[in-house]
Amino acid sequence: MTVIDARNIVKRYRTGGETLEALGGIDFTLEAGEFVSIMGPSGSGKSTLLNVLGLLATPTEGRVILNGRDVTDLGDRKRTALRKRTIGFVFQHFYLLPTLNAVENVEVPRLFDRDPDRAARARDLLTRVGLGDRFDHRPDQLSGGQKQRVAIARSLINDPKIVLADEPTGSLDRETGRQILDEFSRIADEENVAIVAVTHDELVNQYVDRTVHLVDGTIGKEMIDA
Ligand code: ADP
Ligand code: ADP
Repeated sequence: MTVIDARNIVKRYRTGGETLEALGGIDFTLEAGEFVSIMGPSGSGKSTLLNVLGLLATPTEGRVILNGRDVTDLGDRKRTALRKRTIGFVFQHFYLLPTLNAVENVEVPRLFDRDPDRAARARDLLTRVGLGDRFDHRPDQLSGGQKQRVAIARSLINDPKIVLADEPTGSLDRETGRQILDEFSRIADEENVAIVAVTHDELVNQYVDRTVHLVDGTIGKEMIDA
């Protein structure tokens, strides 16, 4: 099943009198359970593409089809609501709230929902990412890898079929990075969640199904690893 079908994505930024074309007509599809990396030099459009795929930005041209539905022309409010229900985000710097413990951090995306099972679900997610013994720990009491596991659990609280990760190993040492990549692989394989990771980390390519190389806002060569 195709979870994202992005067609001929063009993104132009206008600053002052200048127009800069950050994406020059990208075709990108993502299947359920796929783990894909996006690589490329600084300024090649990786963040812009991730933002378009994550409904954080709208393309200047092209269509974004999410779970079979064309979401390109949705208004801000609907797009935000849809993003929260269908896409999880993981960041380089974790973005955990320092005064909340692990369970509460995982609950954050659901804080304003009436959901009596929220805490139980957060504990279950933490257990699944190997933090069953860290429920009450605050971020400053967790290692970098543990913090990223909390962030991964948080990204899954709304049962997304898509998780978008921006440099998820960028703040971690190599061994911890491997553990996080193993976790992403497991989530993709066992839970059928599609994962897209923007990265500079070559290590990531040992784990993904496919790497998309961006060069100046277009897809360079695409390597398929069987
Ligand atoms: P990458 O993530 O690969 O470093 P980006 O997607 O951040 O690339 O940026 C691609 C190009 O678009 C760069 O030239 C960058 O300067 C430009 N750009 C990114 N965001 C904006 C913005 N909000 N306004 C203007 N230009 C931008
Ligand atoms: P960088 O690696 O460039 O420091 P980060 O991984 O810190 O980037 O963040 C990536 C982008 O995501 C940033 O532009 C940041 O503003 C944005 N961001 C951070 N938290 C959230 C959030 N909860 N929802 C949406 N976007 C966010």
